[in-house]
Amino acid sequence: MSELRDLLVHTAHQIADHREATATMRVFPAVEPASLRTGFSGPLSAGPTAAAAVIEDLVAAAGPGLVATTGPRYFGFVIGGALNAATAADLLTTGWDQPAYNAVSAPAAAVVEEVSGAWLKELLGLPAAASFGFVTGAQAANTVGLAAARHYVLRAAGHDVERDGLAGAPRVRIVANAERHATIDRSLRLLGFGSALLEEVATDDDGAIDTEALRSVLASQPPGPTIVVVQAGNVNTGACDDLAAAVEVAHAHGAWVHVDGAFGLWAAASPSTRHLVTGIEGADSWGCDGHKWLNVPYDSGYVFCAHPDAHAAAMAYTAAYLALPGVDAVRGPGDYVPESSRRARGFATWAALRELGRDGVADLVAGCCALARRFADQLDVAEGVEVVNDVVLNQVLVRFGRGSDAERDATTDRVIAAVQRTGECWMGATTWHGMRLMRISVSNWSTTEADVDRSVAAILSCCTA
Ligand SMILES: *Cc1c(COP(=O)(O)O)cnc(C)c1O
Repeated sequence: MSELRDLLVHTAHQIADHREATATMRVFPAVEPASLRTGFSGPLSAGPTAAAAVIEDLVAAAGPGLVATTGPRYFGFVIGGALNAATAADLLTTGWDQPAYNAVSAPAAAVVEEVSGAWLKELLGLPAAASFGFVTGAQAANTVGLAAARHYVLRAAGHDVERDGLAGAPRVRIVANAERHATIDRSLRLLGFGSALLEEVATDDDGAIDTEALRSVLASQPPGPTIVVVQAGNVNTGACDDLAAAVEVAHAHGAWVHVDGAFGLWAAASPSTRHLVTGIEGADSWGCDGHKWLNVPYDSGYVFCAHPDAHAAAMAYTAAYLALPGVDAVRGPGDYVPESSRRARGFATWAALRELGRDGVADLVAGCCALARRFADQLDVAEGVEVVNDVVLNQVLVRFGRGSDAERDATTDRVIAAVQRTGECWMGATTWHGMRLMRISVSNWSTTEADVDRSVAAILSCCTA
């Protein structure tokens, strides 16, 4: 075998070894950053090192610090696993190394996005005519959606923001769910909207926007350039805003509606949860992740826009050296994203969608929700354990202990730390409505009922310890 072939085969084995081990290894490694640092550090060598030796050193240095995020008992943040075909397609993407800017730079990468984008719209119940971009994640998707919104509402007010910037522009109102994801604020910051501009709308007990409050916030000023940000999937509770009502109220006021649906948009893909996002198709832009619930490897998000011209006006650029013959034969992926050169993200998404099929995506969503309810049902009946959210999707919030709020907060933090130390499973923590809580997210295709039961046992053993 050639040296390269040897190296790639060896690397593939390393990947397979790691992925097989995630079902049995400690979910979070018992390692100190200082010891990881030792593995990676040393002076930068002046001369070359053989590729095989570099990879051997990398595996040795990184191995002790790897988290079993692709494994079945990782329930932190909202971290999906990585489907087998999607993982292999992502390895091919690296090997092929196609710059997915347009049909001239990477024809296959451009076409696979064209096809996968249409499949995604169908699965998510979005308008077939919507434009889309394959971005790094929901942070980027929200930024692009809000950039399209900025273009659209300012153009309607007679201002060309791409040409003239925000200086001298009419004031844009930004109205958002008070429990929006923090990335919305960063997107607004990047777009030149100060955080002081944000008008927050109160929510109901589970963190979904209060439609009447939205109506009165909007009505407090006459119609003008306005962007309303709502969400499908509250990052703590999983609650989905009433999209049909929010869209109706916002559109009556002439506002653009952006939906942050990083993981919650996938509710649309299963008959069991579709009702949570009724009215989704009426919004103006949507952000969604592939690397969370669709279980595509990291670096995968999608933005969709009901106004393709506004989307392209906000994002596209060209240069003489890019406008080559044949460039218009395929939709230009680079016209809908903020990056210029970038990874050919469509291959992994195409592979995930093919691996699962429409029914498989629906089953993945319904299955994770059922497992989240299994967590909730088993934990809520235990002594000194309380599930505090309405488990409508894949998120569960758990409070531990007895006594005062402060005592319960302290017990909750202690239990979470103890569970993390067991290595049996990994759940994060959050503060929501003034309470310290364990936050469980079920987002991995490979999690089974047995994994939930084993994790519940680990949690309950930490309560009594
Ligand atoms: C995770 C998340 C984001 C940010 O997504 P990234 O993929 O981390 O960029 C935005 N909104 C919500 C609701 C999320 O859950």
